[in-house]
Amino acid sequence: MTKYIFVTGGVLSGLGKGVVTASIAKLLQMRGYSVDVIKIDPYLNVDPGTLNPIEHGEVFVCEHSWHFKPAEGYSFTIAEVDQDFGTYERFLNKNIEPYNNITSGQIYLTVILKERVGKYLGKTIQVIPHITDEIKNRIRIVAKKSKPDVLLIEIGGTVGDIEAMPFLEAVRQFRLEEGPGNTLLVHITLVPYLETVGQLKSKPTQHSVKILQSTGLQPDIIVCRAPFELTEDIKRKISLFCSVPYEAVISDPDMETVYEIPILFEKQGLGEYICRLLGLGTNRLIQDEYLKWNKIVNMFKQPTDYVEIAMPGKYTFITDSYISINEALRHAAAWNGVKIKIRWIETEIFEEDIGKLEEELSKVDGILLTPGFGRRGVEGMISVAEYALNSPIPFLGICFGAQLLFVAFYRSIMGYKTANTTEVDPNTPYPVVDLLPEQKSIKMKGGTMRLAAHKVYIKKNTKLYDAYKKEVVLERFRHRYHIIKEYAQKAKEYGLIVSATDATGNIINAIEVDGEGWTIGVQFHPEFKSRPESPSPIYLTFIKEIIKYKKLREKSILKIKP
Ligand code: GLN
Repeated sequence: MTKYIFVTGGVLSGLGKGVVTASIAKLLQMRGYSVDVIKIDPYLNVDPGTLNPIEHGEVFVCEHSWHFKPAEGYSFTIAEVDQDFGTYERFLNKNIEPYNNITSGQIYLTVILKERVGKYLGKTIQVIPHITDEIKNRIRIVAKKSKPDVLLIEIGGTVGDIEAMPFLEAVRQFRLEEGPGNTLLVHITLVPYLETVGQLKSKPTQHSVKILQSTGLQPDIIVCRAPFELTEDIKRKISLFCSVPYEAVISDPDMETVYEIPILFEKQGLGEYICRLLGLGTNRLIQDEYLKWNKIVNMFKQPTDYVEIAMPGKYTFITDSYISINEALRHAAAWNGVKIKIRWIETEIFEEDIGKLEEELSKVDGILLTPGFGRRGVEGMISVAEYALNSPIPFLGICFGAQLLFVAFYRSIMGYKTANTTEVDPNTPYPVVDLLPEQKSIKMKGGTMRLAAHKVYIKKNTKLYDAYKKEVVLERFRHRYHIIKEYAQKAKEYGLIVSATDATGNIINAIEVDGEGWTIGVQFHPEFKSRPESPSPIYLTFIKEIIKYKKLREKSILKIKP
């Protein structure tokens, strides 16, 4: 029988609920329990695929697509999910399915379409019971499908938000239906440090728990985000005012690496406490699992050398926009025995002042050109790729970054100054990047990109093959445009190599520049599959090349290409 852990958040957003949820799941996984995680997003979008990353952070892409059928005759493809899925997959080292991301959009769409189809004939459709029933139904579908020992359900937003109300009500009903000992509620709050008085403050936590209680929910465990570990007296205060045992007040301080949070929770006895409350048979950690994770955490913490990587892009105001890339770089760095500094650069600044480009990029050891959509900042991104094509600096272009590398190749190496992607300039005389054939007739924007994992066929004797050492790999995609084969064939004589395609050979999945440097563009997103326990091969090689380049640079024996 599946047990359930609900996770809510209070005081403010951005407390790292995803990391806490994943860390709790990890503690159970380390005890040999199977776990699965649901993320509930109270916004009305059906999935986050149509959201700008500046609004809501990265859009994560699952391994598989899901055909969401809200009612008879309706079907939508979903593979784009909340960025917390990345955190879950990285901590738990397993794929999470897209139907584990429940949004208000999906719930309301289902209920309203069912009403139109005639599923509730004669009835008034209301938030309670119809919306709340559908929410509970969706949670139980996941439990039935993956049959985990423990299913964690993270509720997005902050308690008190109007749009999260039906979800909290559904949780209240769910807990009642499942009975005592079968569900748990973990509430995450902020315990700020007030410098003027030199104290951690518990009042926001007290208020937030009161709001939760007013919805009929009493937390079993309170996880407190604070700049450092909680003192005993503040823990006692929170315990008393919020009506939870002392041992149920858990510190969640700022850490050097998020991967250390499970270890820190374990030290506070959280794993054992949860097992006890849920009546799970064994409380004991599998030592090997714990040690394995500990070793990984140390790999992240120990290095003293670092490399610096520029990430020019369009959504750099919020670094969460690229969280999987940031993490993939960190994984690869740890496995190469270094730390990384990332320099996120908004490429619009290069469009205003091209002098800044040299100034910024000459300081770094590698460049990662980011994914993205639309026109803003693109000329700056192309200039970055042109810079990389004329420098020995290691360069990795991801998706849009790969497409723009190809545009830059046409402009800078082959001399076609007006070459472009039709996403940016539909009238370019050299549309070297254009819509995928099946995209040309698509009108609906939601869930209609080329999504999820597809087979990538890698050519031998390429830098890409050196990284993967395999001829066929599965990588995840999210795009509408692609590099046009005919243009790539023409670029061959100038040193451009198509290093991977799809099974037909018509869709280009990766390109690279021949010669000594390391300039690669991949149409897929390898970062979505990178995990601390199994870093992405291409990111690993990228960091290896960066370390090599940095050493050479330091010895200043580099002969810069003209
Ligand atoms: N905008 C490009 C496309 O749709 C790239 C997408 C991306 O970077 N994920 O093909």
